[in-house]
Amino acid sequence: MRAEDFRQLRGEALLAHPEFAVLGGFAAEWVPTVHWRSVPGGPVAREAYEGFKAEFLARLAAALPIDGLYLAMHGAAFVEGMNDAEGDFIAAARALVGPECPISASYDLHGNVSQAVIDALDMFAGYRTAPHIDVDETKARACGMLVAAIASGTRPFLAWARVPVLLPGERTSTVEEPAKGLYGRLAGWDAVAGVSDANLMVGYVWADEPRGTACAVVTGTERGAMARAVGELAGAYWEARGDFRFGPVTAGLEECLDIAARCATRPLVLSDSGDNPTAGGVADSAAVLAAVLARGFEGVIVAGIADLPAVAACYAAGVGARLTLSIGATLHPAGSVPVVAAAEVVDLAEAEGAERQAVVRIGGVTVILAARRRPYYNRSDYTELGIDPAECRMLVVKLGYLMPDLAAIANPALMALTTGVVDQDIPRLPVRHVTRPCFPWDTDFAYVPEVIFSARAP
Ligand SMILES: [Zn+2]
Repeated sequence: MRAEDFRQLRGEALLAHPEFAVLGGFAAEWVPTVHWRSVPGGPVAREAYEGFKAEFLARLAAALPIDGLYLAMHGAAFVEGMNDAEGDFIAAARALVGPECPISASYDLHGNVSQAVIDALDMFAGYRTAPHIDVDETKARACGMLVAAIASGTRPFLAWARVPVLLPGERTSTVEEPAKGLYGRLAGWDAVAGVSDANLMVGYVWADEPRGTACAVVTGTERGAMARAVGELAGAYWEARGDFRFGPVTAGLEECLDIAARCATRPLVLSDSGDNPTAGGVADSAAVLAAVLARGFEGVIVAGIADLPAVAACYAAGVGARLTLSIGATLHPAGSVPVVAAAEVVDLAEAEGAERQAVVRIGGVTVILAARRRPYYNRSDYTELGIDPAECRMLVVKLGYLMPDLAAIANPALMALTTGVVDQDIPRLPVRHVTRPCFPWDTDFAYVPEVIFSARAP
C-alpha cells in the first residue's frame, strides 16, 4: 500500500473529525499532529511508512514542549522489511519527547504488541469488543488515563504476558463465548487497586510476524496487582484456546450454497470470508458471484467487488446500458478467475474517481462494483445506492463476522470459508515467521504466563 491509499488528517481537520470528537471531552489543550487510516490490505510500502514517521516526528517536534502524548494506534501495520512497525514508530516518539513525558496509546485488539511497544509506553487501552463498537470508549480510556496522570503527577506503567495463541477475529468475536466472558472480566480488573486498565489482545494472524501473538496488557501503578491481573487474564485466554469457534454457521462455499438453496427465511447473509477487506483481504474475487450464477439463484445481491476497469466501463456506458463485463481478479489476478457476463447497468453513484460505485444486474443477481477496495458493512452502504439489503433473498458480503447493522437483518448468517489472502482456516496457513510453538499450529505444549514489566516500570 502506498501513501495515497490512506486517508490523511492533519492539524485542525484532525480535531474536527468525528473519530476524534471524544478528545473534546477532556480538560486538555490538544495539539493535533497527523493521522493515517486505510482499509487494511497488503504490506505498507517502506517509503510510505518512513514518510509518515518523518512527518509525525516533525509535527511532534514543533509541538514541544508538551505535558503528555496520546497515540491513536491500530497496531497491526505490516511494513515492507520490518517486523515491528509500531515498536519502531512509538520508540521514535519516545526518543523525541524524552523519558519524562507520559505517553498513552489506544489500540485495536487485533493489533500486535511487542516488548519495544511496551517499553516505550506508559498507558495502554485496547478495544474490548469485536465487532468494534467501543472505539470511542477506548480512546476515552487512553486519554482519561493520560489526563489524570498529568493532573496528579502519578506515572502508571505497563506489564504484559504473551499467550502463544493466534486466532482470527472471526473465532474470537466478543459476541460469542469464550471471548465474551474473557473480555467481560476486564472491567472487574480495572476496579482493583493498583490496576488502571486491563486488556486482552487477540493479535493479527495474517501478517505472519515473529511478534504476532495474543497477550494480556495491563496499565497500573502497583506491581503486585498488575502481575495478578496479567497472569490471570493470560492464563484464562490460554485455557480457553480450544473453545474459540466461529460464531455463524461456517462451511465451504458449496455447502453454504446448498444451505441457501434449501433456506426458507430471508435474507440469508453469506460472508465471503477469505476476501474480506476489513481483515486485509483483496476484495476483488468473483468466485462467489460465479458460484451463485452457476446455481441460477434469483434475488441475490453480491456486495462489493473492487474492480476499477469494470466500474469505468459502466460509467462510460451509462445507466440502462447493456454491456459485456469482465468482473473481478483485477487487483490480484492469481487469486481468482473473472466472471465475464452480459450485464445491465442499474445505477451509478454520483461520485468521482475512487469513490465511484456501479450497480449492475446479471440475470437475477445484482452486483455492486466499487472503484476501490471497501467494505459494505452498514445498511447505509446499500441504501445510498437505492438498495435495501433486507429485501433480497440472499446478500453476499466480503466480511467475516457482521457488524450490528447487518447482523440484525441476517436470517440467517452463514460464513463461507473461501480461499483468499485472509483465509480463515488458520491451521492450513503456511506460516514461516510466527514464534513457535503457537496454537493452533502447535497443540502439544505447556504454557505458564510470564509477566514482563515495561523497562520504564519503577
Ligand atoms: Zn480489529
